[in-house]
Amino acid sequence: MGLLEGRSAVVTGAAQGIGYEIARVLGEAGASVVIGDINEDAAGQAAQRLGKLDIAATSRRCDVTDEDEVAALVAHCADRFGPVGVMVNNAGITRDATLRKMAVADFRAVIDVHLTGAWNGTRHAARAMREHGHGGSIVNISSISGKVGNFGQTNYSAAKAGLIGLTKASAKELARAGVRVNAVQPGLIRTAMTEAMPREAWDAKMTEIPMARAGEPAEVAQAVLFLASDMASYITGAVLEVTGGRYM
Ligand code: NAP
Repeated sequence: MGLLEGRSAVVTGAAQGIGYEIARVLGEAGASVVIGDINEDAAGQAAQRLGKLDIAATSRRCDVTDEDEVAALVAHCADRFGPVGVMVNNAGITRDATLRKMAVADFRAVIDVHLTGAWNGTRHAARAMREHGHGGSIVNISSISGKVGNFGQTNYSAAKAGLIGLTKASAKELARAGVRVNAVQPGLIRTAMTEAMPREAWDAKMTEIPMARAGEPAEVAQAVLFLASDMASYITGAVLEVTGGRYM
């Protein structure tokens, strides 16, 4: 019996990278999975790939900055698989530049996708979880840059730190309804987002990691599975670092 047998999970930004791995790992633990992503074709292909692994999966285009699209994603989960029991707010972008050079549009875009997007996801999933009365688990994908701040990422670091405040405040509001809210802070994880990084930046980060390697998306997904499952039944408002010891 899988840890999430009989539950429905929604993962945003799950067409690729860490989000896809989260969807796969939750699905392999028995959850039915809804993939939401701004890229509709890629989301559909991701759901098909999960189907080939015998995971019940469906997809829907969802721009997390649009509240109506997030509401529709959560409703799609209820229609296809039953009310959402696990919500993972994972969608993200980067628009790096130093404070001196960053355009305000790039600051706002990053805050909007990560922070407003996760707020939308938390609000709509929490509403559904309250209505069906069985509680649930919400996991926000922050970043270690929200703890320490990254050079050239004032937008991203602010958004990822903001996600911790969102996690803790919503954990307090939702605890009595049986809804747990936690965050994961990955360090350097090997995905399209990080492989676009200049070689020198990659090498510099490597020197900061006690385990001396980048993490794999599946290693983040395992932490999400733990928080999503009843293994974490008394854990809420927590921040779990998945960093190979970097910035502990
Ligand atoms: P990724 O490979 O770029 O995947 C992010 C996904 O989110 C993409 O499919 C992207 O679509 C989608 N997306 C972008 N904007 C969206 C929106 N408005 N609505 C819905 N979906 C949207 O990135 P990743 O590395 O897997 O990162 C996943 C999460 O982990 C992010 O929150 C990121 O900040 C966090 N994280 C990553 C690392 C790392 O080292 N990779 C470390 C710490 C935290 P498009 O490709 O079409 O834009």
